[in-house]
Amino acid sequence: MDFTLVDLDDDDRAFLTEVRDFLAEHVTDEVRRRDRDTGDNFDEGVHLAIGAAGYLEKEWRPESEGGFTRVRRRIWELEKRRVHVPWVTWGTTSMVARAVAAFGKPELVDEVLPKVFSGHVRMCLGYTEPEGGSDIATCKTRAVRDGDQWVINGSKMFTTGAHNCQYVFLITNTDPGARKHKSLSMFLVPLDLPGIEIQGIRTVDGDRTNIVYYSDVRVDDKYLLGEVNGGWTVLRGPLDAEHGAVASAPDGLQDVTIMAHQAGFMSAAVDAVAARVARPGPDGRRPVDDGSVAYRLGRSTARLEAALSTPSIFGRVSQAQTMRDISADLMDIAGPASVLPIETDGAADDGASEYLYRFAPLAGIYGGTLEVFRNMIAQHVLGLGKPAYAAPANK
Ligand SMILES: Cc1cc2nc3c(=O)[nH]c(=O)nc-3n(C[C@H](O)[C@H](O)[C@H](O)COP(=O)(O)OP(=O)(O)OC[C@H]3O[C@@H](n4cnc5c(N)ncnc54)[C@H](O)[C@@H]3O)c2cc1C
Repeated sequence: MDFTLVDLDDDDRAFLTEVRDFLAEHVTDEVRRRDRDTGDNFDEGVHLAIGAAGYLEKEWRPESEGGFTRVRRRIWELEKRRVHVPWVTWGTTSMVARAVAAFGKPELVDEVLPKVFSGHVRMCLGYTEPEGGSDIATCKTRAVRDGDQWVINGSKMFTTGAHNCQYVFLITNTDPGARKHKSLSMFLVPLDLPGIEIQGIRTVDGDRTNIVYYSDVRVDDKYLLGEVNGGWTVLRGPLDAEHGAVASAPDGLQDVTIMAHQAGFMSAAVDAVAARVARPGPDGRRPVDDGSVAYRLGRSTARLEAALSTPSIFGRVSQAQTMRDISADLMDIAGPASVLPIETDGAADDGASEYLYRFAPLAGIYGGTLEVFRNMIAQHVLGLGKPAYAAPANK
């Protein structure tokens, strides 16, 4: 790994200042507080401002098509992370927009992409169903052709951001008799169609996601992405991106693994607890002078650094697992007042480790569970073969 500092030229320095000023103006304490209250991980005002400034399009496009240079892309990503821009809905939107660009009919691409860049169109992922999400291909939501329309019936669990989005990237079953990967078709379904009902769900860390019901929803054929029964091909790109199956960059100007944004909460909690235990108490003693506190804080910090440096899909596992492992230790060494949440008088570390503790389980579920990722590593990286789930045959 290359730890050399990157020299910024005058133009890039000016860009850094521009971005900092822009984000300071738009991502206010009020935005962050509202985001915590709603659990949305999205703020429409901020999103539209980012779109109007041209940053959404520059982030989405490669440099060769007018996007950010590598250095500016890195500056933009790190500055957004530093000020906690609500980010989840842009993440899903930009992934789906790539599938629309690759597989959408020209009139659909024209309808959607300009508004994605202005911020007026957002898109969410409709994969998981109430009966199970790890094996997406077992999808039961049906789409049946009726003339030049399709009729969709079914339900999707955990469609995060649906209530702030205009379209859902919806995987459906169009041929129940076919082998499962050949039975799927992908649609970009407008979320304002009759027959769609979005119900909110709050998770244990306060995030909002949704269950979405589809009852006789009629969708024009132009919203079909790719071929009928070719939905798995359309899904592959966004799924690979979510699974972190992207090449690492030798210039060091990108995260070594996916979910680095989420890992930022872990860094914040370690910092907050380290500051807390370094402050002298009423008796003049610092908690960190206790050997067991120093040891456990040191171990958490070492685990954090190791997780942040672990590349590719190994990093996805290592970050979420580390979050689960160290959050309880951090709360413990920060003391009983660490159970108080953010912005509560007397909270030990302003709720940083308490939030991490509630967030850690989810970070190892969405985008694929840690168990599934471990199996992917075993099968595809270590070449250990497909797991066999059937009970051993009786001899
Ligand atoms: C906060 C949050 C946001 C989400 N956002 C979205 C979203 O926007 N869109 C969307 O479509 N989905 C979303 N999801 C769903 C998420 O992708 C699924 O929860 C996840 O893929 C697991 O599916 P499941 O919950 O149905 O569990 P199941 O698939 O039912 O799994 C149950 C248990 O069995 C284990 N398991 C299953 N299969 C295997 C296997 N092959 N090997 C080993 N263990 C296995 C799992 O690890 C898990 O412990 C979100 C989930 C959460 C919690």
